[in-house]
Amino acid sequence: MSYVDEVLAKVKEKNASEPEFLQAVDEVLNSLRPVIEKNEEMYKKQALLERLCEPERQVKFRVPWVDDNGQVQVNTGYRVQFNSAIGPYKGGIRLHPSVYIGIVKFLGFEQIFKNSLTGLPIGGGKGGSDFDPKGKSDNEIMKFCQSFMTELCRHIGADTDVPAGDIGTGGREIGYMFGQYKRIRNLYEGVLTGKGLTFGGSLARTEATGYGLLYLTNEMLKSNGIDIAGKTVCISGAGNVAIYATQKAQQLGAKVVTCSDSTGWIYDSEGIDVALLKEVKEVKRARLDAYAAARPSAVYHDKKAEGSNVWDIKCDIALPCATQNELDIESAKTLVANGVLAVAEGANMPTTLEATEYFQNNGVLFAPGKAANAGGVACSALEMSQNSERLSWTFDEVDQKLQGIMVNIFHNLDAAAKKYGFEGNYVVGANIAGFEKVAEAMLAQGVV
Ligand code: NDP
Repeated sequence: MSYVDEVLAKVKEKNASEPEFLQAVDEVLNSLRPVIEKNEEMYKKQALLERLCEPERQVKFRVPWVDDNGQVQVNTGYRVQFNSAIGPYKGGIRLHPSVYIGIVKFLGFEQIFKNSLTGLPIGGGKGGSDFDPKGKSDNEIMKFCQSFMTELCRHIGADTDVPAGDIGTGGREIGYMFGQYKRIRNLYEGVLTGKGLTFGGSLARTEATGYGLLYLTNEMLKSNGIDIAGKTVCISGAGNVAIYATQKAQQLGAKVVTCSDSTGWIYDSEGIDVALLKEVKEVKRARLDAYAAARPSAVYHDKKAEGSNVWDIKCDIALPCATQNELDIESAKTLVANGVLAVAEGANMPTTLEATEYFQNNGVLFAPGKAANAGGVACSALEMSQNSERLSWTFDEVDQKLQGIMVNIFHNLDAAAKKYGFEGNYVVGANIAGFEKVAEAMLAQGVV
């Protein structure tokens, strides 16, 4: 049995109840085979893959808080500090009822390679809670965030672990968490990214993941001789990533015709009205039927009632920006039958392994999330630099750096794929390019 197969078997046995984590490990280790096989004995002796798949530290804690009726509620909080070989742990906090240790580990594992790909000195981590922010008052959100940070603050710090936003955690939540950290630790430091602009946040951080997704997608298209202008794009999600991906796609001359949330989706033949979408989602925090009600060209589809989704719409480019495993083999077949040219993942692992392979086998350009959505964490690292320098850069300065980083990421993974004989396979390229730097740093730092 090869070393990769041996480790895969061990990881499966040890983490049998964590399918999302196993899916992420499966994808990464399988695509690292060409690198590992070149030096199998050394990697095995060093147990490098076993170390890579075992978080350095995992914290699980109780988060008690009092709701507006005076009732005590209890949630579970998590922080997985996965790998600090190339820098302090860095990765977002997800607040969603589906969060459990397997989700946090999958996200933290992916984050190791994503952060490495950015070229910036940041390690991999992730956190979250099964708390559901939907329908909660501002006061309840604050109570939860304060309680969550009361425990988390013992484990993080500007040079140790720097969390950020993710599903359910936006500027409001980061603000409450930052306030509580500062109060308890008596430290004004860049311990979180995605902060408000008046207290150390970076311009362009809000836009960074969505914009970055389009910068990378555009570079991938260009290097394959395709012009994004005039193309039809389907986007899923209606959160931070989806909104700014839509905005940048439109700035680049494409037409985005869909968006979605967990209950329904929109087809807008005139192209998504970003200002209206922001009003519905960022200001009113409403469901998407409110978008359709305000826009004659939009049709609202109820997901459960119709069993349909945004991937049923014919498009040239598909950008899944909602959540993991939202694009399955059936949707992949529909997209391919409708002539899709490229798929780039704004969300983390939104495409199932089967669907990914289907795209690759049918000549669709496919950019994996760890490369395509790295703009968020890259900009977070730029926020950390600004906090350390006690300086604030302009929007254009940050945006220019972000563009440079995304274009570099694409060329690095393209080159890594070519070097190992997998030209055009950007999944393999991203995993190898991300792995090489982390592996070198881990080996140089000894058995830790
Ligand atoms: P938001 O919470 O802002 O938005 C998430 C969107 O996806 C919402 O429209 C939400 O709908 C929908 N969604 C979430 N969970 C589900 C589900 N289980 N089924 C269907 N729809 C769902 O999150 P972000 O935009 O920040 O994150 C989206 C994805 O991008 C995630 O995978 C995240 O890990 C990834 N990502 C985010 C980064 C960032 O900087 N924010 C950076 C890199 C990756 P509803 O409101 O109805 O729940």
